[in-house]
Amino acid sequence: MDKIQQVIRDEEKYILGTYARPPIVLDHGKGCYLYDTEGKRYLDMVSGIAVNALGYGDKGLARAIARQSEKLIHCSNLYYTTQHVELARQLVTNSFADKVFFCNSGAEAVEGAMKIARRWAQKNTSGERSGFVAFTGSFHGRTFGALALTDRKKYRMPFEPLVPGARFARFGDAGDAEKKIGADTCAVIVEPVQGEGGVHPAGNEFLHDLADICRRRNVLLIFDEVQCGLGRTGKLFAYEHSGVKPDILTLAKPLAGGLPMGAVLINEKAASAIEKGDHATTFGGGLVVSAAAIEVFKKLKKTSFLEAVQARGKHLLNRLDSLAEKFPSLVVGARGLGLLTGVELKIDAGPLVENFRNRGVLVCIAGPNVIRAVPPLVISNEQIDSFVDVFAEVLRDVENANGEKA
Ligand code: PLP
Repeated sequence: MDKIQQVIRDEEKYILGTYARPPIVLDHGKGCYLYDTEGKRYLDMVSGIAVNALGYGDKGLARAIARQSEKLIHCSNLYYTTQHVELARQLVTNSFADKVFFCNSGAEAVEGAMKIARRWAQKNTSGERSGFVAFTGSFHGRTFGALALTDRKKYRMPFEPLVPGARFARFGDAGDAEKKIGADTCAVIVEPVQGEGGVHPAGNEFLHDLADICRRRNVLLIFDEVQCGLGRTGKLFAYEHSGVKPDILTLAKPLAGGLPMGAVLINEKAASAIEKGDHATTFGGGLVVSAAAIEVFKKLKKTSFLEAVQARGKHLLNRLDSLAEKFPSLVVGARGLGLLTGVELKIDAGPLVENFRNRGVLVCIAGPNVIRAVPPLVISNEQIDSFVDVFAEVLRDVENANGEKA
């Protein structure tokens, strides 16, 4: 049995079967490329699902992790250390926030945001305000609270009952959100750009209206920027496109350059409701992940870096748009913000992923009919061009196969 088959067989035997993986084994990465154990190179348009913002093999990041690992890896949140304080200072001085809570994943950041909102409502409003308004197409994570705010039947149904009190309004429809806010609502949660739900920017007017409604109805506004935050859209935070400042904002994915880390950014209004002992986590804001995140943040926040993401994003979207002209029977159109882009197809997207891979490109889907492209933020225009060329070849294969069937 060859090595790849052995890994696949052992995975099936020992690992809980929650993932459907393709039959390749990844080994190392450089820049925007991943390499499998056979030495085959893949242009990575997934980047760990919007995680690996700096690509692979960033020397500064590797050094920051190595240096901190040699010094001290963990000592718990019982004691003061310096790294997470420096990171929090950076996040606060570069955003709307006054305070930060560190955790270990996107879902945990959403759980943290939910707890803070409930605590705020307990102390600042009358009645039982424990419910949330979320949106159609939303994705906030797989834990019970985050899942309760996630609009995906397939993920929710097998695990019900979830955290009660969630209502879903139509994404993009502030009027519907206002109708769904009840006397029991403590917060509204929205992704400024929906990622998993098919790559849908929320739109500035909608976010402005939502913020007005939340203020008027005395509920908190939470932005989930786990996928769209930290440079992905060409701004450090996606909320900067609209200028609408939330009360609470969640971050994770790229924060620590591929190490697990989440953060909840909170304004003073919401943060003032929290007391010592209200929330905690063993690993959150650990020394190594914080040292990594300081290094990542230093690079992401540079104006020149963000401008390059905007320029590459425009180039990618323009090139993807041309696919709709060339393949009108297969492509609805392209959309996105910065380097968070999706191409909506008139056919199922899932079956195309293998053809991309065979041609040396990794992509993932967002919903049944959207190919999502979320490459490392350091991708070049040449790499974008070669991705779109492969996209065209994949679509041509579909046309040819359809032609043969007809
Ligand atoms: N929120 C959003 C917007 C996400 O895209 C995701 C993951 O894709 C999550 C939350 C959950 O993050 P994690 O998988 O780190 O728990």
